[in-house]
Amino acid sequence: MPARMLGRLTAFPLAFALLLTGGLTGCASRGPAQVETQIFAMDTVMSLALYGEDQTSLQGTLDGLVDTLYQLQNTLSVTDEASELSALNRSAGQPVSLSAQTEEVLSAALELCALTGGALDLTAYPAVKAWGFTTGEYRLPGAAELTELAQHIDYTQLQLDSFAHTACLPQGMEADLGAVAKGYAGDVLAGQLEQAGVTSALLDLGQSTILAVGDKPDGSPWRIGVQDPAGESYLGVITLSGQAMGTSGGYQRYFEEDGVRYWHILDPDTAAPARSGVASVTVVGDKGLVCDGLSTALFVLGVDDGIQLWRDHPELGMEILFVLEDGSLVLTPGLEDSFTLAQEGREVTVVS
Ligand code: AMP
Ligand code: MG
Repeated sequence: MPARMLGRLTAFPLAFALLLTGGLTGCASRGPAQVETQIFAMDTVMSLALYGEDQTSLQGTLDGLVDTLYQLQNTLSVTDEASELSALNRSAGQPVSLSAQTEEVLSAALELCALTGGALDLTAYPAVKAWGFTTGEYRLPGAAELTELAQHIDYTQLQLDSFAHTACLPQGMEADLGAVAKGYAGDVLAGQLEQAGVTSALLDLGQSTILAVGDKPDGSPWRIGVQDPAGESYLGVITLSGQAMGTSGGYQRYFEEDGVRYWHILDPDTAAPARSGVASVTVVGDKGLVCDGLSTALFVLGVDDGIQLWRDHPELGMEILFVLEDGSLVLTPGLEDSFTLAQEGREVTVVS
């Protein structure tokens, strides 16, 4: 992979980075009016902060966003038996009707599955369950079980009929939207904010899925801390202006057995935790769903195939920050100016 060392990153004390980023997300200077809330939805803590002129109308808009998040959770949840996704998982080859939103997220996610050569595969869910990631009752499936599970991971079996607005899955297969739903939710909320005329907001959809609407009220970009996958602290800060960001990492959900760590992002070829040498990957782009889905896929693909995907698909407008298991970083040139290391001493490569 053609690469050159990055000499331009400046370092600053970690405490300064934390102060600037206000924890996981950004800390804006105070505008004339601001409203914020934290909720638990889609299995994670989400923080929403809106800035504008009028407190009352901002509060009304915020309440609308929260309603939307709970509604999306009810529709897209894989564990709620009443959700549309659960109905699809029970379809056993019979078409089930989809709402416009479910059709939209499935269709966009399936496009990413194809674009990533199946590194993203919505039908990995039976394997995710087999490892215990849905219940917390972790176990190590044996080799024969993994082979069997991998044979039934195949997103091309998820048939979407965009004329009839239906979808179906063969008996024995199940899909989950865990890799894309938070990013999609961010896109839906960003649309609502646009309609409401809100031009400054930070939507933290949990697990480092961020939608930055416009800039901070003072006109400067949002500053987002990027977690160090090997520790509790932050390895650097990314600035965002009207952009989305998604991070996938083995540190976000995992268990350990006999000193080996097993995480929740699976390689569809093996049905086992993806081991590509990547500790975390952050994708910055225009759309939350694309950033969320691609960060999961790039974690599976690893650096070389991931950078090839980046080269092959400039139309995606994505920029990538890989943190490798040895602590070194690989980033695409579009992040060179917007990413700042918290501390010196890491090997950083900018691909060209
Ligand atoms: P994320 O945290 O966005 O990277 O998504 C991880 C979640 O997506 C997991 O908790 C699983 O529910 C699901 N998942 C795991 N591996 C894959 C995969 N290769 N493709 C699609 N979804 C996956
Ligand atoms: Mg994802």
